Amino acid sequence: MKGQVNKELLESLIDVEELYQDAPCGYVSFLPDGTIIKINRTLLHWLGYSEEEVVHEKNFIDFITKGGVIYYEMFYLSLLKMQGQVSEINFEIVRKDGSSFPALVNSRVLKGRSGEQKAINATIFDITDRKKYERELLLATRLAEAEKKRFEFLADLIPEIIWTATAEGDFDYVNQRFCDYFNASNTDLEGEFLISKVHQDDRVKCLRTWVLCIKRGCDFQVQVRLQSLSGDFQWHMLRAVPYKDSEGVITKWFGSCTDIDEHVIALQRKDEFINIASHELKTPITSLKAYNQLLKRIDDKDKARDFLDRSAATLSNLHFLVSSLLDVAQINSGQLTVNLGSISLTKVLRHSIDLIKLNYSSHSIVEEFDSEEEIFVRADNQRLTQVMINLLSNAIKYSPQAEKIILRLTRNEPSALVKIEVVDFGLGIPDEKLDSVFEKYYRVSDTKNNNRVAGLGLGLYIIQSIVKLHGSRINVKSEVNKGSTFYFTLPVTERGLN
Ligand code: ATP
Ligand code: MG
Repeated sequence: MKGQVNKELLESLIDVEELYQDAPCGYVSFLPDGTIIKINRTLLHWLGYSEEEVVHEKNFIDFITKGGVIYYEMFYLSLLKMQGQVSEINFEIVRKDGSSFPALVNSRVLKGRSGEQKAINATIFDITDRKKYERELLLATRLAEAEKKRFEFLADLIPEIIWTATAEGDFDYVNQRFCDYFNASNTDLEGEFLISKVHQDDRVKCLRTWVLCIKRGCDFQVQVRLQSLSGDFQWHMLRAVPYKDSEGVITKWFGSCTDIDEHVIALQRKDEFINIASHELKTPITSLKAYNQLLKRIDDKDKARDFLDRSAATLSNLHFLVSSLLDVAQINSGQLTVNLGSISLTKVLRHSIDLIKLNYSSHSIVEEFDSEEEIFVRADNQRLTQVMINLLSNAIKYSPQAEKIILRLTRNEPSALVKIEVVDFGLGIPDEKLDSVFEKYYRVSDTKNNNRVAGLGLGLYIIQSIVKLHGSRINVKSEVNKGSTFYFTLPVTERGLN
């Protein structure tokens, strides 16, 4: 009884024809020649036809685009014949009004007793939405790809080492500068690669900070020496910032390595300079104190005069030192000025030689110019003397084994310039350090003997600025253990012309 009620109820519930007509997909049956013999309401609705307009009146190919017809005739029908069914074929289905929609078509052949094709049943799914999402997805993928390319293009332009890494710390992108600096390719770079390039003495500090930052999920920043392609180590600031998702979980690291070598070296040089300057200032002050004490106790006039001479020389050294420091301060603030006028170069040279001879008696100064002929140049008398004293004292200080230095003048008539050269036969300067000798606080430290020579590394820096204010430029030629020539030119003027 119970089973009978259920069967009856079920039969009344399931009306197969209704299900066929109103299914969420289109159903169509057609003969092997394409003539439509049955079609459901859903598909008719999509197409905009009535049943009478379609059944026995239309062919399946009437509903597909021209391109679709070629495919239908060449492949679809052959596949159906061979396999008895064809799944998930894309057709553009044409509506009555000429518009179309993309559809996915599944077809199955209905065979007769002797295996002949009787009809074809096709299920049609409207995939307009799916196509739309596919297009949007494609667009988003292309956009993301373009954004990635833009980021990489920018990152390659930056003269800084840039990288990104996974949450685990493995590189997934490194820029061109990274590859150039380490001679690495941007594939297969593991996290340990960068650590292997960190100077041994900085490695523990670097790793410790990195582990701590991963643990805490905070920014990473450490100053280390990195080994470049050439094998040299250069100071870099290593930075990495974690990128977190909405739950605060690290998904990526963005990192950079900034070359701070010059900055660190400048700081080191400054520290070194402060040490030397304090020492250089303290020494004459101590001597002056001692002369003072002795003078108080000495009755012998000759001895007293000797101490007075010595303390005067010490005072002038001290004066020179303090003046150099003041000059540097003026250069730094852009306040160093020159008072240009027509002055006698010959007089400046003779005066400078006299002053140098007071302090240095070890070398003879060969004058390769006619000291009788007065040459006038446009310059600042005092500042030019300062330039000459610096060049001459350097030539003597850095040629301890030599006996002479040369001071040469060459007139260049057509351009009305005079070239002033100071030549020595001393230690010389290695090629790669030639430019650096004009930098503030710079001293060539690996030249033998140089460390024993007193100096602050300021002389050339100051005189370079002075010569520049004269509209000229100081140059140097040098060969290690052979000697150096420092030279510059000045414009010749008529006597007394301003
Ligand atoms: P100071 O400030 O007292 O002049 P300094 O002589 O060391 O000190 P600079 O005159 O600026 O400083 O010279 C910088 C460095 O260049 C020197 O320390 C030296 O190493 C190198 N140098 C300069 N002149 C010569 C030279 N004629 N021959 C070889 N090295 C030189
Ligand atoms: Mg000097």
